[in-house]
Amino acid sequence: MIKTIAVIEGDDAAPEAMQPVVQLLDSMNIGLEWVYPEVGEAAEAKTGSPFPDEARATIDNADTTFFGSSSGSSGASLMYLRWGKQTYANVRPCLHLPGCASPLANPEGIDFVIVRENLEDLYVGCEGPLEDLEPLNLRGRTIRQPVHTLGTGKYAIKAITREGTERVVRFSFELARRRHRQDPSRAPKLTCATKHNMLRGSDGFFLEVAAEIASEYDDVEFESFIVDDFACRMIRDPQALDVVVMPNLYGDILSDAAGGLVGSLGLAASGCFGDDYAYFEPAHGTAPDIAGQHIINPTAALLSATMMLEHLGFTDEARKIENAVFRVYANGQALTPDQGGTTSTEDFCTAVARAL
Ligand code: ATP
Repeated sequence: MIKTIAVIEGDDAAPEAMQPVVQLLDSMNIGLEWVYPEVGEAAEAKTGSPFPDEARATIDNADTTFFGSSSGSSGASLMYLRWGKQTYANVRPCLHLPGCASPLANPEGIDFVIVRENLEDLYVGCEGPLEDLEPLNLRGRTIRQPVHTLGTGKYAIKAITREGTERVVRFSFELARRRHRQDPSRAPKLTCATKHNMLRGSDGFFLEVAAEIASEYDDVEFESFIVDDFACRMIRDPQALDVVVMPNLYGDILSDAAGGLVGSLGLAASGCFGDDYAYFEPAHGTAPDIAGQHIINPTAALLSATMMLEHLGFTDEARKIENAVFRVYANGQALTPDQGGTTSTEDFCTAVARAL
């Protein structure tokens, strides 16, 4: 069973994490074929476009994409992987690995997953000058004057649809069921976090739709919190969480915070799932401040790769890599600087390969 993976290494320090991870997976000889769509500045210099048709075809012909992180012109390919491929559920696990430098006194047993709605909310990217809203003469619930008369400024649209909410909430309930099947000692629960007290129309609608869907899943406990209260609970009692679903912006912010909770953004894996397609990328950005130093922690990329292997049907291999990563942390001899060590990105991956 040969599976083809399109690799986009990304910008700044991202390729330094991606390359040794791809090498490690390749060395397992399990039938993975790697293709490299040419995107970004290199593609632009050759074809005039940062995301030419050939790159799109390479992605379309592969089984999945493994994406580094983008700060520049490779961003056009990310738009395609998200909106073009309709990958609406961004799954971001938060797992305590014994040996990691968590700032918590008691991080043992943290094991939850944030599902961030990936396509809507403020990320529809519809912004502009306030004066453009004059023909609508919109009045807010809090400020009584028409919003375009507030001053010189900008607006951003927050779009929450029934369709978009239903699918990400159903995905999250199914994930809670799957996690329970994998570990029956874990009671399945879905937590929804929104700002429905202030944003009654938009976040209130997200919660209303989520509560409707909850009635189809009476085997899964459903709870909801106002997102600021949720942020506090996530830090005070993270072990109480199982699966959490949130609109896009809160999911983006709080999943980075969840990475900090277990020790570093460098540990935060992610996969973006649609109905017909999924791609995988570490949750962190391109870490420009440490580019060229070969100290970026590749754990997020490695654990994203294990999610990818599982998606491709290589479940045993995914577990093996995960266990090898756990052993390296438990052993504590090969830690990158974000974890208090001095090991380079490449040497960390070599330690994982040895543990394999
Ligand atoms: P984006 O908006 O693209 O998600 P960001 O603003 O969250 O990016 P990052 O690039 O993720 O920013 O970096 C935030 C900080 O975390 C930086 O100091 C960076 O060096 C650090 N960081 C991010 N990823 C890693 C990693 N894998 N290993 C070590 N440090 C990291």
